[in-house]
Amino acid sequence: MKRIIVILGTSKTDSMNRVILLTGGNIADRRSILDKARHAIDTQIGSIIKASPIIESKAWGFDSDQAFLNQVLLIETIDIAIEVLNKIQLIELELGRTRKSTQWMSRMIDIDILFFNDDIIQTERLTIPHMHIKDRRFTLYGLSLILPRLKHPVYHKTIKELLNTCEDQSEVEVYFA
Ligand code: AMP
Repeated sequence: MKRIIVILGTSKTDSMNRVILLTGGNIADRRSILDKARHAIDTQIGSIIKASPIIESKAWGFDSDQAFLNQVLLIETIDIAIEVLNKIQLIELELGRTRKSTQWMSRMIDIDILFFNDDIIQTERLTIPHMHIKDRRFTLYGLSLILPRLKHPVYHKTIKELLNTCEDQSEVEVYFA
């Protein structure tokens, strides 16, 4: 059965797109891998306009002794959303990510597209805004450090408001500012 493809928003291929990415990992030299991911994103996808502090939190959705480091990046790119997805998946592979079927597991690097302009996209390969933004304290916390007033185009609430009402009460702390 074919899925309905919905793309709502203002994206154009001839102007800059404002994209918010979340990088994260909990294996090996976590900080150095996030630094490499940031560099690869800046050179292969688009200029980094803002970067949140690196934050640390326990694994979300599965048990692991190894805590995650995450970082939120605001970038500008001429790429459309699917091109950004293709590029982040290549960067994940370059940095040693192996794809296995388990949904949530320890990983060297994971890069998610949180927002793409104010677009709402639902396709076979992409859900934008990312489907777990409001459920994950570490994501909202990272976002709140650089873009507290950003409005979620589906819930019509700011990041600050979503953080204040987030049910996930996991501990999240700044690891490196
Ligand atoms: P993950 O295991 O978190 O890297 O999930 C990767 C899968 O999620 C890929 O197959 C993507 O096509 C899909 N996906 C859907 N929406 C997004 C999004 N907003 N950002 C990144 N991957 C996404």
